[in-house]
Amino acid sequence: MKYENTRKIVLDAILDAVDMGLIHGTSGNIAMRDDKEDVVAITPSGISYKGMTADQIAIVDMNGKWLDGPFKPSSEVPMHTAVMRARKDVKATVHTHGMFATIAAMSGELLPITPPQAEFVPVGIVPFTMPGSNDVADKVVEALGEEGRAVLIKNHGMFCCGKDMKAAMAATIYTEEMAQTTYYAKVAGVYQPMPEEAVKKMKELIAADQAV
Ligand SMILES: [Zn+2]
Repeated sequence: MKYENTRKIVLDAILDAVDMGLIHGTSGNIAMRDDKEDVVAITPSGISYKGMTADQIAIVDMNGKWLDGPFKPSSEVPMHTAVMRARKDVKATVHTHGMFATIAAMSGELLPITPPQAEFVPVGIVPFTMPGSNDVADKVVEALGEEGRAVLIKNHGMFCCGKDMKAAMAATIYTEEMAQTTYYAKVAGVYQPMPEEAVKKMKELIAADQAV
């Protein structure tokens, strides 16, 4: 099998995301750029992830053209490849329809409540655009900017990225957690995001690899 290692990383990540409840049914998709060649391994479209095998993960070029794999690539392939073309530092991308991230997108703002969440702000907000379009891909790229790790897409879900799959999954897990804690704190009437100064300090520690 070509690109076996990259395909296996994508498969393990999507199965983890299903186990963690971040992805339901066939919604959501995950992609990873190959180490050696300019190709991207991405989850296929409309196929149940449970029981999937690595050879069923699709391979596309950097423009999203389907190169290998028995099933056509995710319809959100433009979003994943556009971010990888725009950001040389990004090797892995995760798109989910997490419930709390979707709610947070409607509120128009998401701020960290706990220190580990600080790594992933500012979280950009993408206005609703038709799923799978080049337009939504361009808007995600724009909202991520040069350093962004997570954006919320209105009436759709979220998109996260990282230098490897571990980093992209961490962005996904903590952004959904940020949205969940925010939601419950607001419902309980006790909402207090982290002080801005503390967020800044925390981001400096994370950047210097000194966060515990
Ligand atoms: Zn989607």
